[in-house]
Amino acid sequence: MKEDCIFCKIIKGEIPSSKVYEDEEILAFNDINPAAPIHILLIPKKHIKSLAELKDGDEKVIGKIYQVINKIAEKQEFKEKGYRVIANCGKDGGQEVEHLHFHLLAGKQLGEKIV
Ligand code: AMP
Ligand code: ZN
Repeated sequence: MKEDCIFCKIIKGEIPSSKVYEDEEILAFNDINPAAPIHILLIPKKHIKSLAELKDGDEKVIGKIYQVINKIAEKQEFKEKGYRVIANCGKDGGQEVEHLHFHLLAGKQLGEKIV
């Protein structure tokens, strides 16, 4: 936990969030400023600054996040239609919140495809 981190505060319940999934290692909640009909953020409860700061062993929680994405896609019934997962990293990557997070976007044909 990092005292001044907004996502750590969400994990602690100090800032409210609209939770989609939670277990001992992962929290998923709706993005406050959605870019698609479904826009969920998935975060490890451990404070990891970004993808660039992954340490040995962190790959386990990252893999689990992708499994949670699968579960959510099935439950919210967009698995068939498809979805997009984005992790912005650092300044050039456009990362604004410095607690590793994965954007899960679905519910429409997503535009602005850059790759
Ligand atoms: P990024 O630009 O990749 O760092 O994404 C940060 C995301 O966090 C943005 O999509 C914001 O809308 C979202 N966000 C910031 N504060 C909150 C909050 N309190 N609850 C939910 N989402 C938030
Ligand atoms: Zn944090």
